[in-house]
Amino acid sequence: MKIVLIAITVLTLSSPMASIGESETAFAQKRAQMVEDQLKARGIKDPRVIQAMLTVKRHLFVPTHSRNQAYEDYPLPIGEGQTISQPYVVALMTELLALKGRERILEIGTGSGYQAAILAELAKEVYTIELLAPLARQAEKLLKELDYKNIQVKSGDGFLGWPEFAPFDGIIVTCAPEKIPEPLLAQLAENGRLVIPVGTYVQELKLVRKRKGRTTVTDIVPVRFVPMLREKGK
Ligand code: SAH
Repeated sequence: MKIVLIAITVLTLSSPMASIGESETAFAQKRAQMVEDQLKARGIKDPRVIQAMLTVKRHLFVPTHSRNQAYEDYPLPIGEGQTISQPYVVALMTELLALKGRERILEIGTGSGYQAAILAELAKEVYTIELLAPLARQAEKLLKELDYKNIQVKSGDGFLGWPEFAPFDGIIVTCAPEKIPEPLLAQLAENGRLVIPVGTYVQELKLVRKRKGRTTVTDIVPVRFVPMLREKGK
C-alpha cells in the first residue's frame, strides 16, 4: 500500500513539468518534419529561410485549441475571419524576397504576426500593417513577449503603405488586392522586391522587381488568400 502511494505522489509531482518539456520537444519535432516534407521537398532552398522556419514557434501564433495543427500543411483560422498562411506559402514568399540581413521590409496583413517574426529573423527592420485593430494589438503583444525588437506593428489600411519609413527593400502582401496598389510600387526601393497575390477569385502570386526606376512583374504560382479590404471612407 505504502509503495503504491509513493508512486502516485511522484507521478503527480513530475507530470506537469514533464508534459511541458515533452510538448515543446514534440513541437520542435513537428517543425523539423514540416521543414523536410513541406518545404525542402517542394524546393525551398535558401538555408536562412529554412533556419528561420525551424526557429520560429508557429504553434504560439495560432489559437491554443488548434496548436496541435500548427505544423500541418494548410492555413488555420486566427479569429476575425482571417487565417495564418500555410507554412509552404510563408516560406515561398519569404524566399522570393531574397533577404540577406540588411533590409528594411514592409508587410501588409500582420494577422497572427507569424510572417513578421520570420521576416524579423532574416532582415534588419520589419514594418507591418494590419487593418483589423484587435489582430494588430494581439500580434504586437505576442511579438513583444517573444522579444522581437526590430518589428513595428501598426493598425491601418496597408493599401497606402507606410510612407514615413519608405523606401522598402522588400514588400510582402499577405492579402489579395484586385490590382497592385500604386502606393506600394512607389514605396519600393531601387533593386527592391515586392511579393503579392493579385486577383479576386483566382489569384496569382507575383514577384515585382524595380530596376532603374522600372518595374518588371513575374507570375510565380496560383494562390488563395483572403481579400485585401479597404479602410472605411478611403
Ligand atoms: N501574414 C499573416 C497572415 C494574415 S491573413 C500571418 O502570418 O498570420 C491576411 C491579413 O490581412 C488579415 O489579418 C487581414 O485582416 C489583413 N488585411 C486585409 N486587408 C488589409 C489592408 N488593407 N491593410 C492591412 N491588412 C489587411
